[in-house]
Amino acid sequence: MALIVQKYGGTSVGSIEKIKKVAERVIEYCKKGDRLVVVLSAMAGQTDSLIKLSKEITDTPDTRELDVLMATGEQVSVSLFAIAVKSMGYDCHSLLGFQTAIHTDQIYGKARIRKVETDRILRELDENRIIAVAGFQGIDERKNITTLGRGGSDTTAVALAAALKADLCEIFTDVEGVFSADPNICTHARKLDRISYEEMLEFASLGAKVLDIRSVEFAKKFSVPLHVRSSFIRSEGTMVVAENREMEKAMVSGVVYDKNEARITITKVPDRPGIAFKIFDPVFKAGVVVDMIVQNTSVEGLTDLTFTVTKTDFQETIKLLKEIAREIGAEKVLGDQNIAKVSIVGVGMRNHAGVASRMFEVLSKENINISMISTSEIKISCIIEEKYTELATRALHEAFGLGNENEKK
Ligand code: ADP
Ligand code: ASP
Ligand code: MG
Repeated sequence: MALIVQKYGGTSVGSIEKIKKVAERVIEYCKKGDRLVVVLSAMAGQTDSLIKLSKEITDTPDTRELDVLMATGEQVSVSLFAIAVKSMGYDCHSLLGFQTAIHTDQIYGKARIRKVETDRILRELDENRIIAVAGFQGIDERKNITTLGRGGSDTTAVALAAALKADLCEIFTDVEGVFSADPNICTHARKLDRISYEEMLEFASLGAKVLDIRSVEFAKKFSVPLHVRSSFIRSEGTMVVAENREMEKAMVSGVVYDKNEARITITKVPDRPGIAFKIFDPVFKAGVVVDMIVQNTSVEGLTDLTFTVTKTDFQETIKLLKEIAREIGAEKVLGDQNIAKVSIVGVGMRNHAGVASRMFEVLSKENINISMISTSEIKISCIIEEKYTELATRALHEAFGLGNENEKK
């Protein structure tokens, strides 16, 4: 008898028919004797619609109230799911974030989980019930409703699995697992049977939204076995596990893109000690996550500084930097939202030279200009024009022989 935490994403619960199918599938597990905690996302498109509604009032809705609003999406799914399960003759209780309870910090819109209580869930499981937990939401110290950031239901599921010491956490989604590239844009993408936590962390942080990055961090930290699989097709998906010796050490295991990046440049910054701190401290304090940073060699004591942030944080950061530029005597602040980041990832890169130059060669053959580069032990990322994202992803996928059709090169 296993304790399993399952998470079903927005598309998987996108209609009443689909919710009923999920209920049937969960009941199949119960019939085998498993105990089930089911985390659900809002029905597909719901979170976007709720945000849109608030933006009909103002471009900058109050973040506390926006969290109260967004959390309703998941409340709808868990209640409908519980109604479906009960109509099929099984017992089920839906629980919201505050009932479970999932404790977070106070950062509305991107709250971090601090502690997950398990007493209530364990008690209800003992009463032979299926538990449906609303994903994506929690409460802060003062019982305000918080949300975990877009895609955050994955994190709810893994955090619950860790706290409950579940035997398995299954992430059910609209694709069959984690692929060598987004299968929705790269038709030759290959499903990976296994991927290490390290590689999955890179995939997630570089933009493969199949798993939320914080869910992978939790899984790695608490050694939660994660299975990413399809809601619609009965097949084995991808196991996300600790790296081990038998694992295939592919030089490159995947190509990942992120269209949610924007570039900001401050020109003619006086090149003296303390300037980077003066520029970035207020940016970090505003909760903006800065990704790549490039500083040019200085000419006559002046330098250009370029970095990337998410498109979501772009306007706010530009506004902030215009003030900072004035204070430090820099020339001007330029922004570009028509960019994307394309990356290749693979643990085998540690032992292979020349992967980067191969990547640059592929992009150059497609006539794609690279405007920024960053590397780490197991990834290389390039900033390119957004309109070339799909082309670059497919070309790199092909060149590194990652697809079903190709032999590994
Ligand atoms: P859910 O609503 O189930 O949480 P998401 O839309 O958040 O689903 O994540 C699944 C999507 O992630 C897929 O539809 C796919 O387009 C995208 N994706 C991007 N990169 C990858 C990848 N390497 N492998 C699988 N899916 C990927
Ligand atoms: N409903 C939330 C979103 O759309 C959380 C999730 O789906 O994981 O981002
Ligand atoms: Mg998701």
